[in-house]
Amino acid sequence: MRSATGVLVLGSTNLDLVATAARIPGPGETVLGSGYAEHPGGKGLNQALAAVRSGAPTRFVSAIGSDAAGEHLLALMTANGLDIESVRVHPEVPTGRALIMVSDIGENSILVAPGANSLVTTPTIPASIGVLLAQLEVPIDVVAESFVTARSMGITTILNPAPAAPLVPELVAACDIVVPNEHELDALGGVERLLGAGIGTVIVTLGARGVEIFRHDANSSSTLPSFPVDVVDTTGAGDSFCGALAAQLAAGASLHDAVRWATAAGALATTVRGAVPSIPTAEQITGLLADHAR
Ligand code: ADP
Repeated sequence: MRSATGVLVLGSTNLDLVATAARIPGPGETVLGSGYAEHPGGKGLNQALAAVRSGAPTRFVSAIGSDAAGEHLLALMTANGLDIESVRVHPEVPTGRALIMVSDIGENSILVAPGANSLVTTPTIPASIGVLLAQLEVPIDVVAESFVTARSMGITTILNPAPAAPLVPELVAACDIVVPNEHELDALGGVERLLGAGIGTVIVTLGARGVEIFRHDANSSSTLPSFPVDVVDTTGAGDSFCGALAAQLAAGASLHDAVRWATAAGALATTVRGAVPSIPTAEQITGLLADHAR
């Protein structure tokens, strides 16, 4: 049996630029806004931070530009203990940006400029890795190629198919676990389609309703409820869930225990505003699980 406990997260790094206004401008229109803030983002970065805060030695495979945003994000990765050996700096392109407009009634409009994320290439996969986790904000052929290699090394592969996109057959064939939310599951044609294509485990995250787990080799599904918490902002719940799941599986936990851990991580992420600040540590997750152990 493999005893590798590391996690490799393959994915995007963005700086999120968030402007608020009374309403979102239409095409050709200019609206005077009321506020502005910048936050670290990208599903890859969020999930890598979730894995390392959950206690796994985590290597991040990503790309940034040689600009101030890239420097700032690289410093954040290092400060959080991520292994950044596979984060490439591309001087000829900007760091990825998400341009987010939010209206007073909470509607938003998001344009992602991938920048360096579109230059992410297939990494060398170290033997110390137990789990490879990826999303779809970097080129899908790179995700597919990495999953095929990881699978051949006996590494567990987890795909969070976000943003939803048609999956290429090589990728489907190399996924051990797929973790969609309800919207992404619909876009992928439903759970029967994924299991029918040979994916072993599908874990559907259902927000406040917890998760439902489907196994290829079982005829029934099982559900795990969410933890009741005081919800402030659900941003980052799915990313916290995926990173925490990967960390626990790499540490050798059973699927049930890893999903329970991840469900606690997702719940805690809703109790703090923003994505990165809300990603919980192993200590916080252990605390929530202990509170509900009785
Ligand atoms: P996404 O952010 O990708 O849409 P979900 O909203 O399904 O993902 O959240 C991921 C997980 O986080 C859920 O399965 C659940 O365990 C936890 N979670 C999300 N929202 C809540 C909530 N309101 N209360 C408790 N747990 C939550």
